[in-house]
Amino acid sequence: MPHSLEAADLAIQGRPKLEEPTEEAAPAALDWLPRALGQLDKAGLRRRLVTRDGPQAAACEFEGRRLVNFSSNDYLGLACDVRLAEAAQRAIQDTGWGSGASPLVTGRSRWHAWLEERLARFEGAEAALLFPTGFAANAGVVPALVDQGDAVFADAKNHASLIDGCRLSRADRFVYPHNDSDALAELLATKTDYRRRLIVTDSLFSMDGDVAPLDRIAELATRHGAMLMIDEAHATGVWGRRGRGVLEHFADQAPTNAAKLEGAVSVRVGTLSKALGSVGGFVCGSQALIDWLANRARTYVYSTAMPAAAAAAGVAGLEIIEAEPSRRSALLQRAARLRDQLRAAGFDTGASCSQVVPIVVGDAERAMRIASALKAAGMLVPGIRPPSVPEGESLLRVSLCHDHTEQDCDRLVRTVVRIGRE
Ligand code: PMP
Repeated sequence: MPHSLEAADLAIQGRPKLEEPTEEAAPAALDWLPRALGQLDKAGLRRRLVTRDGPQAAACEFEGRRLVNFSSNDYLGLACDVRLAEAAQRAIQDTGWGSGASPLVTGRSRWHAWLEERLARFEGAEAALLFPTGFAANAGVVPALVDQGDAVFADAKNHASLIDGCRLSRADRFVYPHNDSDALAELLATKTDYRRRLIVTDSLFSMDGDVAPLDRIAELATRHGAMLMIDEAHATGVWGRRGRGVLEHFADQAPTNAAKLEGAVSVRVGTLSKALGSVGGFVCGSQALIDWLANRARTYVYSTAMPAAAAAAGVAGLEIIEAEPSRRSALLQRAARLRDQLRAAGFDTGASCSQVVPIVVGDAERAMRIASALKAAGMLVPGIRPPSVPEGESLLRVSLCHDHTEQDCDRLVRTVVRIGRE
């Protein structure tokens, strides 16, 4: 992929200079910020912007150093696949880059419509709807389904976008302990005085790499007449026989119950930005659901459609996922091997059973120290600390991708063992 650093430099040099604010004119309203940032610094929680050079793949370059990249969600190695880039180029030649308006105005091109049709077919759903991002999908769908007088039941470790969707909804919120279907059953049995009830959960949890007990949750949703919304962001393309996600995985395991299980899930959310190698969020479900969301999900109605080129790349990603199932099986096998190695070396990988393998450290500063030592040794493994995880549960999040080799994994284990002893 050509990388136009010169163009970026030029753009920066050509930027008009802003006038320096004078001492007297400096606005006081943001005076609290340096102190607040200092507090983040003190707590070891301050995040800094980083700039990658060149493409993002199983190895990446930062500040002239090449690092093995264990920090990406590009699980199947498609973000740099030439087939996606070519599909995007074809769409750009056809329709240009920007989409210019929200989808209901003029933003939705035939490339978007094509991807929605392909996604619905891939997921075995009646219809699908594209959102600008997965975050926008979650933040828009929940408030479109529940409002004042309704209730939402959410896993304690749901992704921030689901949490924000619940907050925006004005529904009463009931958070159940992570993956605790008994606690959810209790809530559903007691919090009954509502117009509508919605259960929301990630299917594969992005920090712990574990999966929701969707079979039990689906059964509860059916029994209590509640809507069930699942976020398959980290599972699409990787889990299930055809790559549909964790729901399909459970259906594969109990084929006689598959239709009932899938029928209990009213809303399936996914993203194109992880295993599919592109960008954009999507929702699959009944035609009535999709029609409703196109009218009522504010992040759909009031936001510009993703570029048509991103939709075209999404179709190309989907086709690769359908044609090359060995990508996901090889990835999950390698992840199982890595987990075994880490556990044998005495590390806590929590309840991970996926391509996301956490090394639970606890203390935020220790996690960041190990992450820096790994970086110095040539490996990019993000330290995850609050607010991404609860206090005292900081971890190193290893994301395995298709193009990582066994040697990459062996080197990671050797290095973590060495650092752990220091
Ligand atoms: N859901 C989950 C579980 C995620 O981890 C993420 C992104 N990290 C999203 C949704 C948002 O997806 P996107 O990056 O496409 O906005």
